[in-house]
Amino acid sequence: MILELQSDLTPETKSELLMKLRALGWEYRELPPTDVQRIGILDEAVHDEEACRRLPGVVRVLAVRSPYKLASREMHPAGTLVRAGDVVIGGRRIVVIAGPCAVESREQALSIARRVQQDGAALFRGGVFKPRTSPYAFQGLGEEGLKILAEVRQALGIPVVTELTSPLQADRVGACTDIVQIGSRNMQNFELLKCAAHLGKPVLLKRGFAATIDEWLLSAEYLLFEGNGQVILCERGIRTFETSTRNTLDLSAVPLLKRITHLPVIVDPSHATGIRDLVIPMGRAAIAAGADGLMVEVHTDPEQALSDGMQCLFPDQFRSLMQDLRAIAPVVGRVFD
Ligand code: PEP
Ligand code: MN
Repeated sequence: MILELQSDLTPETKSELLMKLRALGWEYRELPPTDVQRIGILDEAVHDEEACRRLPGVVRVLAVRSPYKLASREMHPAGTLVRAGDVVIGGRRIVVIAGPCAVESREQALSIARRVQQDGAALFRGGVFKPRTSPYAFQGLGEEGLKILAEVRQALGIPVVTELTSPLQADRVGACTDIVQIGSRNMQNFELLKCAAHLGKPVLLKRGFAATIDEWLLSAEYLLFEGNGQVILCERGIRTFETSTRNTLDLSAVPLLKRITHLPVIVDPSHATGIRDLVIPMGRAAIAAGADGLMVEVHTDPEQALSDGMQCLFPDQFRSLMQDLRAIAPVVGRVFD
């Protein structure tokens, strides 16, 4: 429910209204003003529009039908800009996050970071705590990997993104990264979401591989409700009956999300397809569909990569994708240089 307040609202009437809402025990937030001051009622149980209309200072009541509230365009019409260092995600400029699936060594991370930065990546990615299907697969370098990320960030001045998989790592990950990634497997790990929200860093929330858009936005809602408005959504493919690709990239999610939520939306064509040769076409398509950016896996020696080698682009392929984005961006009213 959105309460629109009188244009000549006095501070006294406003405090009377807020006191009333607290007395009713309703969860509410003051919303970014449009041409009027607005208050969002978040409780699902509040349906009585007439009772809301009678509250002091309220002139109009609008029902919010979606189950997520703070993530909706209704409560927050303007697009959110997410900031990491000097990088802004969600503005006119397309933002590319690139790097290996996992940090494997200092040399590997630095050499890939240099290449992708030169060719147009604004942020470097690299997992250090890897959520792997098999316990026998490479699990990431952990703490040592975090130190390497901190070194890459320091040496190249590039902001970094890495995944948080447990609240036990939160302080260290929060200190070493510019954006905290929540992976597909943890999209509905609500305690982890609450913990990530409080790190004071933007959160990149990947879509659960079996999550509907409503479920995904409700996970984003946890982050917003905990007070962290700096959230980026990342479409990374969903599981369908199709087995020819690793996942099925739901590109229609991009324009749909841009309509129903104010949060920036990026696409990961690497995990979505699992096949190197499909990453470039799907990366192009994502930008053409209106995505605010891409997250792409790149490796200087994919054959030897400790994880996801078959979907990592060679640096030259990455460069070619970046050139394509420079051509596509202006067609969809965006900038990429
Ligand atoms: C990743 O980006 O490193 C990753 C594990 O992706 P996802 O969570 O989408 O599977
Ligand atoms: Mn990967």
